Amino acid sequence: MTTTTAPAIRLRGLRKTYGSVVAVDDIDLEVATGEILGVLGPNGAGKSTMIDCIAGLARPDAGTVEVLGVDPARDRATAKRDLGVQLQQAGLQPKLRVSEALDLFASFYDDPRDPAELADRLGLTERLGHAWTALSGGQQQRLSIALALIGRPRIALLDELSTGLDPASRRDVWSLVREVREAGTTIVLVTHLMEEAQFLCDRLAVIERGRMIALDTPAGLVGSTAAPAVMRFAPSASVALDVLRSFDGVADVTSGDQTVQVVTDDDGVLAVLDHLAREGIRPHGLRITESSLDEAYLDVVRRESEGANR
Ligand code: ADP
Ligand code: MG
Repeated sequence: MTTTTAPAIRLRGLRKTYGSVVAVDDIDLEVATGEILGVLGPNGAGKSTMIDCIAGLARPDAGTVEVLGVDPARDRATAKRDLGVQLQQAGLQPKLRVSEALDLFASFYDDPRDPAELADRLGLTERLGHAWTALSGGQQQRLSIALALIGRPRIALLDELSTGLDPASRRDVWSLVREVREAGTTIVLVTHLMEEAQFLCDRLAVIERGRMIALDTPAGLVGSTAAPAVMRFAPSASVALDVLRSFDGVADVTSGDQTVQVVTDDDGVLAVLDHLAREGIRPHGLRITESSLDEAYLDVVRRESEGANR
């Protein structure tokens, strides 16, 4: 019997090549049951290839994939029953109507969601009679999400979840994803939106050139940047910026419009405040904010590519 702590997905040394391209290069990853894992990374990094391997649609060249304890490429019946997959390419018959697609996919499962209710949640009710090829890009995207979730899968794989969706649709999708997770589904989603990653995901895997270069919570990823804080203030007298730059932990100092901005770690914050106090300079309107996930993500990818090019 499996325990509740057994990972839903386990990748060991996963490698997948296409000719001379190493799309996925030695990835180890475990996704806990009930977790929402976000996958981030530049175009061509290998995110979709990794999803295809987890879905059992691509066979690894090396390493192993276990989904709920089985190899999804070998045990297709189990994988189809337990996995809901939203792919970047939908691959439906062009003339299939939205309602037919929903009913067809619902028929594959023992206890599917109500197609009408799901269509309503995703704003597709008025499009039920249309061929799916007649839908806008965003509507096709919402249909593919509906098809991935209609079978109440134990694991949902959502590749570029909200790419192409307008902000209101995105909110609908986010609330649906959260609800699906509350009902016990484990979710792996690829996203380019840091706001989405922050809002939905328990952990984030950053993929770059086929390798996993970071795996952390959103807060952990922000905290792991070399300079996690941004200080802004209007000094009451002129500040020697070079002195601030010389402090340990200070990554960047800029000034303009009577405001000084310091990107730094916690030690640097203290050093700057200490310096100002000793010089009798008041930091008017002082604000210290956390670096954003955007900055942290870019920092991780930049450091990696600098390392690779060195
Ligand atoms: P991502 O989803 O992160 O944008 P992909 O996994 O789609 O990246 O692609 C990773 C790399 O593998 C890219 O260099 C891409 O061109 C290549 N690739 C992906 N699928 C195929 C395929 N079916 N045939 C050949 N090359 C592929
Ligand atoms: Mg992709």
